[in-house]
Amino acid sequence: MIELLSSRSRRLNSLRCPRARYWLDEAFGTGFSPVALAIPLVTGGSVHVGLASVMTDAMTGEIGEREIENAVELARNDYQHQCAGRSFAVEELESQSFVYNEQIALTEALVRLAGMRVVPKILELYEVLEVERMDRAWLTGDGMRGLDPSWTVDWRSIPDALLREKSTWDLYILSWKTTAEFDKRKDEDARVDMQGLSEGWAVEERLAGWAKALKTGPDNAFVPAIPNWFIEHFESGGSPIIRGVQMVYLIKGARRKKSKEDMLAGGVTEEQIKAGGGQYKTASPLIYGYVNDPSGTSPKFAWSSDWHCRAPHGMRRSQWYPTGECPGDGRLHRRGDDWKSFPAWEMLTVKTWMDWLADGTVSPEAGDALDQSWAMPVPHYRTRGASESWLRQTRSAEARLARELIEIREYESAWGESRDEGVWDALIARLDETFPQATEKCGNWWGRKCPMWEICHGPGHVAQDPVGSGLFRIKEAYGEAVTTE
Ligand SMILES: [Zn+2]
Repeated sequence: MIELLSSRSRRLNSLRCPRARYWLDEAFGTGFSPVALAIPLVTGGSVHVGLASVMTDAMTGEIGEREIENAVELARNDYQHQCAGRSFAVEELESQSFVYNEQIALTEALVRLAGMRVVPKILELYEVLEVERMDRAWLTGDGMRGLDPSWTVDWRSIPDALLREKSTWDLYILSWKTTAEFDKRKDEDARVDMQGLSEGWAVEERLAGWAKALKTGPDNAFVPAIPNWFIEHFESGGSPIIRGVQMVYLIKGARRKKSKEDMLAGGVTEEQIKAGGGQYKTASPLIYGYVNDPSGTSPKFAWSSDWHCRAPHGMRRSQWYPTGECPGDGRLHRRGDDWKSFPAWEMLTVKTWMDWLADGTVSPEAGDALDQSWAMPVPHYRTRGASESWLRQTRSAEARLARELIEIREYESAWGESRDEGVWDALIARLDETFPQATEKCGNWWGRKCPMWEICHGPGHVAQDPVGSGLFRIKEAYGEAVTTE
């Protein structure tokens, strides 16, 4: 029996570029990952570890200081573990240690934000029933006609959590997104993407199995232990249908070029800056603040350089503010040059800075920095038609891919045994026919260079021996198959 894995991230790779799907997920039975770390993937992954801890605690109680500190520790440890012995894919002039320290601080900040503000809000509306439970479902059935019966296509997904709305008892899937920026269009994109459909389908398959077992009695040996929440839910008439997806966005801030002044202070030369080189920092008020007179006896702090005021406040006397007072009517102010940006993790700690942001110690006239760093829009509702349509598309596409892979595997093993250039050329020719290159994505793979760039466009020996090139490693097993960004 040969098992082909499928998941949302694999489908997304196929839809963006069939060749990238092959190299990332399927080549030689494993797929390859770049050795260099992609900054947003590492941060997103470690934040998810902390979020899973907070959500697990939320299944049985409230979230307090102890739960938050525990989650922060797990997330930071995960970050260290992911980075051990590896380096980030960054521009030449960037400092690896700066990126590491900044991103681990950002990871901590987003986990703290979730514990302090977001999860309590989720708990007002929902009960948490499950956290990161993996679903496996078989993409078999009529849509798989023509597939060799010795192959199965095994769909896997791990929803961040399963929620039940307190007021209706409807079931929802929770999806955390760490995002550089959030706006309405981002949420509209998410509304039509396949996540709710795919994860919802896999959970419903499982719940339908449980419901069937409860109806037919306990003698079905293939059904795993059914948790109490479901027995209670089902026997009280609760629906096993997933109503929709509750997205929650944690806003990381965009990585922007540092000011020239900052770069010069960081050892970059004028010539390097002129040549277009840069160092970047992540614009988040959770990890950067502004300070006025840091070496004086009473330094002043702020969390933004531009701000719309919310209440009357004092201003330096000028022709615009002859009384030295602003009415606080929402106008935009910009702080002067005597305010300097500083990294919270160096000057204070992330915890101290965020506690100050939470209790209004820092520039409360500029609004609430914590609540500007997350968003929880109304849920995205699933329709039966959209779910069925997604399933048909996925089944037929993955069946086609499985049939193509069966043939590619023969070329792969022939190449593995012979290392014959003619066999290699035949493998590439077959890939050209079945896994075409969507070249417009090469330079814009989720906003960065495609991770398989060197395999497609580098020297020929890289594709022939990705691991030996030093640029790639064999993709880790199932965890990565379903990791979400
Ligand atoms: Zn004002």
